Amino acid sequence: MPKQLVDLGGKTMLQRSVAACDAHPDVDEIVVVLPVDLVPGASALVGPTRAVCRVVAGGERRQDSVRAGFGAVSDEATIVLVHDAARPFVSRAVIDRVIAAAVESGAAVPAVPVSDTVKRVTTDAAGAARRRVLETIPREDVWLAQTPQGFQRAVLAAAIDAGAGRAEATDEARLVEWMGHEVQVVEGDVNNMKITTPEDVQQARTQWVEAMRVGTGYDLHQLVPGRVLVLAGVVLPCEKGPMGHSDGDVVCHALTDAILGAAGAGDIGQMFPNSDPQWKDAPGLDLLSRALAAVRASGWSVINADVTVVLEHPKLLPHVPAIRANLAAVLGVATAAVSVKGKTNEGVDAVGRGEAIASHVVVLLTRRHA
Ligand code: MG
Repeated sequence: MPKQLVDLGGKTMLQRSVAACDAHPDVDEIVVVLPVDLVPGASALVGPTRAVCRVVAGGERRQDSVRAGFGAVSDEATIVLVHDAARPFVSRAVIDRVIAAAVESGAAVPAVPVSDTVKRVTTDAAGAARRRVLETIPREDVWLAQTPQGFQRAVLAAAIDAGAGRAEATDEARLVEWMGHEVQVVEGDVNNMKITTPEDVQQARTQWVEAMRVGTGYDLHQLVPGRVLVLAGVVLPCEKGPMGHSDGDVVCHALTDAILGAAGAGDIGQMFPNSDPQWKDAPGLDLLSRALAAVRASGWSVINADVTVVLEHPKLLPHVPAIRANLAAVLGVATAAVSVKGKTNEGVDAVGRGEAIASHVVVLLTRRHA
């Protein structure tokens, strides 16, 4: 999958980067440059924008893609910013500084100083195992360039022409440097990170977590002859089943209570009163998915669930894969995020005598920033 389409907490990296630019009041239009095969489905990939948005196919090198994008910029534009799709954290303040400096001096880059000591190192690939330091570069001379980089329209046009016959430029300021024009440096932002590695993606995803909530749930049903023993929609071979107004699916009932509890949204009895004939014999999976829809409407989603079933017999273990799969499908999470454990009650109490079945659940929910 192209990096710009990686999910970062409910929106793709591309959508978040576009949205960050779109949120700036001085941005009147956006040109998204995408690999040619992504252009046909681009409007869905980019999502809705306030500013006018056009999509064009990119080229082989970065400067070829910038040339293509620049060609789609309207004639009225006086300042053009070039931004990496891999920098979704850009702030309004950084964009403000870049625009102001580009207006003033024609070309501007945001940059941050380095805090590590900087070494120039041998680049011989064959000698990678024995790299050597060639020299220490005074770190006050070294700044890390970010995007958006901003240009007066004529300056960028000339820079793109200057870069046509050159090697690949890793940023647009390099093109301006090649033509001998000054590039002003403004204060960047360490949070305006470029998402490059899988570790960066993991770190970026946590940025949109607004809150995490844990919930617990518990349920017990008496086991009686003539009823079907159902756990998370899976039928277990047993001469008895749970007595109840609904199907008595203790796993679904405990999980539903845990989810509602984590979201502070009441409990299963309030949402599905057993005085209401609508819920007579209602499947537990159905109640679970209704409760989940209610908390999702408030922005919550499930991270994981840990389920314990207390049952004297039959053995739970052969049915665990099917139970996990059913729960994962309803919760919209990977099977690995659903744990199901079977316990007996060691022959003690009603559960131990086979007169009842119980379940305990712990669930974790998160809510993300829009
Ligand atoms: Mg129940």
